[in-house]
Amino acid sequence: MVGARAAQAGSSCLNKIAMLLKVPEFAEMIPTGKKNTFIKTNFSQVGYARHIRPVLIRAIVEAVREIGGKPVVTDTSGFSPKGSFPGDQWFEAAELMGYSEAALNCERVIANGYEGNDGEFVSTGGNELGGVEVARVIVEAECLVVVSHVTAHPLAGYFGALVNIGLECLNNSGKARIHGGLKPTWEEAVCDRCETCFAYCPWGALQGNGTPYLTENLCSGCGMCLLVCPQRAWRLRCEQAATFQRRVAESAAAIVKTLNKKIVYLNFLLDVVPQPDRFFWSDVPFVPDLGFLASTDPVALDAVTVELVRRAPGMPNSAAQEAGVLACGQEKFKALTGVDPLYLLTHAEKMGIGSRRCEVLVAEG
Ligand code: SF4
Ligand code: SF4
Repeated sequence: MVGARAAQAGSSCLNKIAMLLKVPEFAEMIPTGKKNTFIKTNFSQVGYARHIRPVLIRAIVEAVREIGGKPVVTDTSGFSPKGSFPGDQWFEAAELMGYSEAALNCERVIANGYEGNDGEFVSTGGNELGGVEVARVIVEAECLVVVSHVTAHPLAGYFGALVNIGLECLNNSGKARIHGGLKPTWEEAVCDRCETCFAYCPWGALQGNGTPYLTENLCSGCGMCLLVCPQRAWRLRCEQAATFQRRVAESAAAIVKTLNKKIVYLNFLLDVVPQPDRFFWSDVPFVPDLGFLASTDPVALDAVTVELVRRAPGMPNSAAQEAGVLACGQEKFKALTGVDPLYLLTHAEKMGIGSRRCEVLVAEG
């Protein structure tokens, strides 16, 4: 781990990221020569303003080159309804959010193809899925550097390495499999009939005249309504969130163990906001910038991430204040989302892809 502060010349975030990736344990994972190292990040959505700054991804690109590798930046296109144009949206978001090839100084590819469904079915262990459709680039990559912008997440509790690999490395069919059957429930008593959720449901599943009506066969379980409702009238039952978390863990296990990848994970605890990057707006951060973490173990990395956010002070005038969790040591992710992040960590550990017991090495800088 390395902290976020850059009080002196030479301690910039760019230097810190490069320093982390050059730690021998990580650098030796990067293939040298002509084989690609795919840097998997999230290009975010147009309207989101707290995404990882492109210059920080470029720092990873340069570090991979200095190690002797051949970097390519990749992301999957979003989980979107039939009839939409995921490839067009991917290019639009990449350009508008600043992830142009010129800015990255690197080639950039859609991991799941222009139509969103390029990929391969991969068997999983566990009882939830049987298998998932993994994006083509992820299937074929020998080495991945998975870069995650840590945020809250309405279905998993938090977004970090495990959700980035277990959900965001799938093609559209795989993502639909993870979300399938999840249906939010509506709390009539708190709904003020503002109709906001009607406008923002990407799948057209919410209609009505003031009172929302959910057409179940149109609902994808995407979770957008949970975040857009100002009254938090849409909720996910605990058992549904647990199902989502188990599926994410199984899918991550398929990629890590079945496909046997070399993977370095980087979690960025900068701009930790309530909305993950797939949403198209972003609130102010609810904890201070904490720094950068790297590991080859996604469970350990996320366990430390969740613990650091718990120990951090909440930011005044943020979602942490609204949720009454300003004090150090109060669980922030669960208070904001209603979902316990520890369940995902426990299940991922059971799937054999890492351990929550770990040692944290803090680098000076
Ligand atoms: S989860 Fe909510 S926003 Fe997403 S498709 Fe279902 S009703 Fe619409
Ligand atoms: S956004 Fe929330 S408060 Fe507004 S109509 Fe939908 S459920 Fe009700």
